[in-house]
Amino acid sequence: MRETVDIMIAGGGVAGLAAAAAFGSAGYRVLCVDPAAPVTESTAQGADLRTTAFLQPSVPVLQAAGLWERLAPHAMPLQVMRIVDAGGPEPVARSTHDFDAADLSDQPFGWNLPNWLLRREFLARMAELPDVRFEPGIAATDLLTRESEAIVTLGDGRRIAARLLLAADGRHSRMRAALGINVQTFRYGQKALAFAVTHDLPHDNVSTEIHRSGGPFTLVPLPDRDGTPCSAVVWMESGPEIARLQTLSDTRFDEEMNTRSCGLFGRLQRASALTVWPIIAQIADRFDGERSALMAEAAHVVPPIGAQGLNMSLADLKVLLDLARPETLGNAGMLRTYHQRRWPEVRLRVAGVDMLNRASMASAQPLRDARAAALNAFYSLRPVRHGLMRLGIGMR
Ligand SMILES: Cc1cc2nc3c(=O)[nH]c(=O)nc-3n(C[C@H](O)[C@H](O)[C@H](O)COP(=O)(O)OP(=O)(O)OC[C@H]3O[C@@H](n4cnc5c(N)ncnc54)[C@H](O)[C@@H]3O)c2cc1C
Repeated sequence: MRETVDIMIAGGGVAGLAAAAAFGSAGYRVLCVDPAAPVTESTAQGADLRTTAFLQPSVPVLQAAGLWERLAPHAMPLQVMRIVDAGGPEPVARSTHDFDAADLSDQPFGWNLPNWLLRREFLARMAELPDVRFEPGIAATDLLTRESEAIVTLGDGRRIAARLLLAADGRHSRMRAALGINVQTFRYGQKALAFAVTHDLPHDNVSTEIHRSGGPFTLVPLPDRDGTPCSAVVWMESGPEIARLQTLSDTRFDEEMNTRSCGLFGRLQRASALTVWPIIAQIADRFDGERSALMAEAAHVVPPIGAQGLNMSLADLKVLLDLARPETLGNAGMLRTYHQRRWPEVRLRVAGVDMLNRASMASAQPLRDARAAALNAFYSLRPVRHGLMRLGIGMR
């Protein structure tokens, strides 16, 4: 049996669901499949407890998809990005640099939202769109392409013919492999713990990265929980160190977490389960194939520094939406232009985040001192500081 759609999306992660809502809102017939069912409650088994800081340029993409009006009431503005160096012999803050969004515009840098809530709201939006179907529990297993169409075989044996396949099936993308597209991968031997904390002192809409060794310890503002200030934490360390942290009792974990946060928020109290994420950087050799486009983590992965990952994915989506025309959807010209517009920009961001991550991992004291000196130097030059802020949020 063969069905026909305009756009087949393999992968209903946050990026795939956003793409389905965006193309559905633009009037295309879309089918999105994913072997896993999205978890839409914070306390449910398998909930994605990460948060996403959506930077300014992502908001129009979410607005066009009819998503932003659903997300805005839950979004926590990020006004200041604070970088704290705690790389001296003792775990104390030895220098602090604030990057204030007010230096660039009257808008915050971005808005932070929990990933489980994104899934809930994205699914609700898709249910409003008559031409969008989401089928959880089904994988895209095989792919055959020809000049006029991509034919995707699903796990239940159905064959779907689409004018465009969007491969949003994550970093181990099966669709990318079926297209014969290779990736370049950078490994750090590093993992991240993601969880929520409450704390004594208010966060004042400041996102704080504390650098010592092993990777950054980042706190991103969330709405208060029962009247107590709350933040999302991403704590990056070497794989063995993360494994050790996971085996600690709650009391020991809290002690180590409070040492690592240098007391900057008063006492931190863990307010969720711990989830663990392996850290790599990766870029596919091409983002286009016959009748197919790679997007999001199927195309690129970066360590969670500077809130780049999903924002790069929404930038992919913006270019795809800009290029899509009913008469030329998925043709070679559209897809070549997509690759040409996105690949060089993504390559630069992957290289930039790779460099920042390696600097943050440094454990030798002279390297940590050199890192602090470099940050001081960049920060003290106003045009460089503003340029870095623009580059970081993807502002033109
Ligand atoms: C700790 C951490 C913090 C982060 N914080 C931020 C942040 O603040 N801002 C930001 O922009 N980014 C952030 N990121 C990055 C962001 O979370 C990712 O970019 C994003 O979640 C990846 O989305 P995705 O949809 O591409 O991939 P995934 O979430 O991996 O989704 C891929 C989907 O494809 C499905 N799939 C797999 N195989 C198949 C198949 N054969 N057929 C169909 N479907 C398939 C999977 O089940 C999965 O649901 C962070 C990342 C980490 C690790």
